Amino acid sequence: MRQVVMHGPGNVRVEDREDPKIIEPTDAIIRLAATCICGSDLWPYRGAEPVDHQVMGHEYVGVVEEIGPEVRTVEVGDFVVGSFWASDNTCEICQAGYQAYCVHRVLMGTLGTQSELARIPLADGTLVATPGMPDPELIPSLMAASDVLGTGWFAAVAAEVGSGKTVAVVGDGAVGLLGILAAKQLGAERIIAFSRHADRQALAKEFGATDIVEERGEEGVTRVKELTGSLGAHSVIEAVGTQEAMMQAIHSTRAGGHVGFVGVSHDVAIPGDELFMAGVHLHGGPAPVRQYLPELVQLIWDRKINPGRVFDLTLPLARAAEGYQAMDKRTAIKVLLTV
Ligand SMILES: [Zn+2]
Repeated sequence: MRQVVMHGPGNVRVEDREDPKIIEPTDAIIRLAATCICGSDLWPYRGAEPVDHQVMGHEYVGVVEEIGPEVRTVEVGDFVVGSFWASDNTCEICQAGYQAYCVHRVLMGTLGTQSELARIPLADGTLVATPGMPDPELIPSLMAASDVLGTGWFAAVAAEVGSGKTVAVVGDGAVGLLGILAAKQLGAERIIAFSRHADRQALAKEFGATDIVEERGEEGVTRVKELTGSLGAHSVIEAVGTQEAMMQAIHSTRAGGHVGFVGVSHDVAIPGDELFMAGVHLHGGPAPVRQYLPELVQLIWDRKINPGRVFDLTLPLARAAEGYQAMDKRTAIKVLLTV
């Protein structure tokens, strides 16, 4: 099969690799219907994380091609979506809704899903079958559910978004934009999007943003305060992972409010005195996407949400390197790779 391998920073190649095989009796093999590039794939691409001949990709949708002898809940031929953490969905942590911390979890990025085939561990716990074979037009949205939609959704839940609340969203990448979609679905009254790119502002508004703030950092915080009677937002989503973004999120939150942080943290250090004086709730980390998948798949199936709109560039898998370049230069929000 063909698979994306990152040889080193900025060096992405598509190579012939051995087909994955069933290793554990709880494994399934899927044939990808499409795959995609994640914002988090840019950290190693830019040299901000070590990388050496690493298989890439952790988002996936596709058709089950083979199952191990202990797999019960999915069958060969099912169309399935799964999260970027494989999880058993039965341990105490999973049962509490924190499948990203399953005691048996496997990070899908270590197996790679920017490929034609993928091995999915813990198939019963990890995979959610769609009600039938999806129309091709639904595939980008189902793909989004695998990570960016589920992550944005978790961020909104962690930020305690709810009806009547004012929400601010730091980050206008796919996760931030889908955090806006989630906030709208969860009943937010007002949604303030931080963005300085016209195309992303337009999509933010389409997903439900009511206000756009172009300023960043403390200037951005000042604008949010101006828009909220100097109080700050009830709920703030942090979807970047840098020091500036995290402090922007904390300072944009009103006392007693909630920050949901899902940007993969890179050298973020919160000064204790600022945390002490902020009086806000902080919750976040790797999203337990699996918890939300059944609900998200149904919303997509019923065409109530269209998160696939974040894919603004589609390329064949063979041209994955161009996709990485486009996301690195921010000429594309998110790249779908056809298989
Ligand atoms: Zn578990």
